[in-house]
Amino acid sequence: MIVVLTGAPGAGKGTQADMLAEKIGLKKLSTGDALRKHVKEGTDIGKIAGAIMERGELVPDDVLFKILKAELDGVKADQIVLLDGYPRNLSQAETLQTLKDRHPVKAAIHLDVDRSALISRLSGRRVCGSCGATYHVSTNPSKKEGICDKCGGELAQRKDDKPESVAVRLDVFEKTTRPILEFYGARGLYKQVKGEGLPSEIYERLSKLIKAI
Ligand SMILES: [Zn+2]
Repeated sequence: MIVVLTGAPGAGKGTQADMLAEKIGLKKLSTGDALRKHVKEGTDIGKIAGAIMERGELVPDDVLFKILKAELDGVKADQIVLLDGYPRNLSQAETLQTLKDRHPVKAAIHLDVDRSALISRLSGRRVCGSCGATYHVSTNPSKKEGICDKCGGELAQRKDDKPESVAVRLDVFEKTTRPILEFYGARGLYKQVKGEGLPSEIYERLSKLIKAI
């Protein structure tokens, strides 16, 4: 069975997915990771996806779905799969329903964080150019401003995290995600969890909900 996890950029979805996988044994399935894995291993579908990516194009829904299906086929029937990064649009949500006999979606959980909080989380983020460590100017600053604690590398703001880019990313997310949440809402599967507070507090809310499924 599948639990879909959605959340805006900066909502902390990745952190929570890792905690849920580690602590209650959910299988985390990220379509982005699965895609990279298939490309790297050179599977049939990975070769097709790799050629598309090399041309700088987005991997189309049908190719992504084949990769997802290949990953799901390797999962035991009673295992709960936490799906991260899929569905990203209404059409993907509908396609996922075609697997419902073997892999029913039991819940779609949205990690809800205020827009202003998302903007401050994302625009305050700084990344080390050498080792990739991430910091936040107010919640997790480096000891010396602009310098990585771990390797002494230089910290910079990703282009994506500049305020104007953040606003665009959040708008795109809102626009594409709302129909997905409505889709699951109409099927009684939509749940919302407040994504503000300490990671451990958010984890408690999420795991309680998932254990009740
Ligand atoms: Zn570093």
